[in-house]
Amino acid sequence: MVLPFKHEPFTDFKVDSNRIDFEEALALVEENLGKEYPIVINGEKIFTNDKLISTNPADKAQLIGKVSKATKQHIDQAMDAALEAFKIWRKWTAAERADILFRAAAIVRRRKHEFSAWLVYDAGKPWDQADGDIAEGIDFLEYYGRQMLELGYGKVLNDRANEHNAYFYQPMGPGVVIPPWNFAFAIVCGTTIAPIVAGNSVLLKPSENTPVIAYKLVEVLEEAGLPKGVVNFVPGDPEEIGDYLVDHKETRFINFTGSRATGIRIYERAAKVRKGQQFLKRVIAEMGGKDTIIVDNNADLDLAAEAIVHSSFGFSGQKCSACSRAVIHQDVYDEVLEKAVTLTKRLTVGNPANDNVYMGAVVNQKQFDKIKDYIAIGKEEGVLAHGGKTDDAKGYFVYPTIFKDLDPKARMMQEEIFGPVVAFTKAKDFEEMLEIANNTEYGLTGAVISNNREHLNLARYDFHVGNLYFNRGCTAAIVGYQPFGGFKMSGTDSKAGGPDYLQHFLEAKVVSETY
Ligand code: GLU
Repeated sequence: MVLPFKHEPFTDFKVDSNRIDFEEALALVEENLGKEYPIVINGEKIFTNDKLISTNPADKAQLIGKVSKATKQHIDQAMDAALEAFKIWRKWTAAERADILFRAAAIVRRRKHEFSAWLVYDAGKPWDQADGDIAEGIDFLEYYGRQMLELGYGKVLNDRANEHNAYFYQPMGPGVVIPPWNFAFAIVCGTTIAPIVAGNSVLLKPSENTPVIAYKLVEVLEEAGLPKGVVNFVPGDPEEIGDYLVDHKETRFINFTGSRATGIRIYERAAKVRKGQQFLKRVIAEMGGKDTIIVDNNADLDLAAEAIVHSSFGFSGQKCSACSRAVIHQDVYDEVLEKAVTLTKRLTVGNPANDNVYMGAVVNQKQFDKIKDYIAIGKEEGVLAHGGKTDDAKGYFVYPTIFKDLDPKARMMQEEIFGPVVAFTKAKDFEEMLEIANNTEYGLTGAVISNNREHLNLARYDFHVGNLYFNRGCTAAIVGYQPFGGFKMSGTDSKAGGPDYLQHFLEAKVVSETY
């Protein structure tokens, strides 16, 4: 028996002792920067000469770690190891597999601030965002462990005279996990441990931006007693090994979170049956978003401004759930915009390794350049209401930016930016606001700020997103409370942290016996 799932609490950094503990964890991690990390295949640690270099986004000169790069040959070895490990791991009971996750959760909980501090350096996360990321990772471990215990028994079927029928779930085989850098612990953890607790083995290819914290997870799973070969750690260049992992004839499933372009590429490639392949591959894809907050004329406007600002600028808007479009009723447009600008002026930007700032730097040069380009586009398409400043002298800093008076079809209103930039647009009534909210190819998150019950009811069914929030922001879904995943070009709606998630990595079997 296990206790019911409970969400891991967030740390309150206003409490002095928490702040001091966190500073100590940052100092501890700082002492350990610059180390080398291996590939892990069948439990064996392999160091290669060719390395991924991870640096601090807020201080480009600071080396976080060097991580060995896997080649195609390593992928073949890792797949062999995963196939071997699968033969044994699939026969472990659900309870035995869940126990590994519960032990891993205990280990991470004990070292929580240390892990958050790694995220500060490796991913450039501000303290509260790093703390939330680690809490979510712990939640995934606790939640999926419990889900597996429930599923372990299968479902009850009807029996007839002289016939007994059983319906149960079994794992599928080795799969590939390709997580993103923006939730460099939580999503790496969730997308890896869900397939393994279901009894599969995996090849985990972390993002080249954040490989160090991903390695820490692999260490934790090993310490928790995970048998070798169940998780094989294969960091590398996506151009070199990405397609190879997806195309491999033994890859049974691909669990991907990342950009729309890569998601589509994986989906298309996985559809092709390769020589010797004996199954159809499954693809679980969480892709981008162009998420909207609607503000009605009958609404709490302070709440609206706060929801827009925090959903747009938390972790510099580097979340697929981030708000990047504020669609406001014409009666309250000026007021909400003014309140949002006032709140944004108070946000602090800096290196989170030095201070508890609201925003750090964006992840790398490529993202910095892309966001800068969008700021230029915004100036052409709309009117700059606040911010617009960028500075990549020391780190990749983009300051929170608000554009106003955008046409709903403008590029700023249609394309994912993945940075601290939000576009405001005006609408005449609720129907028009809903129409604008639905006018992108994405369908991930959205929020409605309104006191009008009729309008909320309309949005409930007609605002076409996987995660819809009323009278709050559109980010920060919590495992077990708001299972997360989107519609349309945002992915396969696989609802991470929800009751159906493990089914993606299982197949149902029926055994019917006559006696
Ligand atoms: N689950 C996160 C949230 O609700 C977003 C995940 C992502 O950006 O991939 O904010």
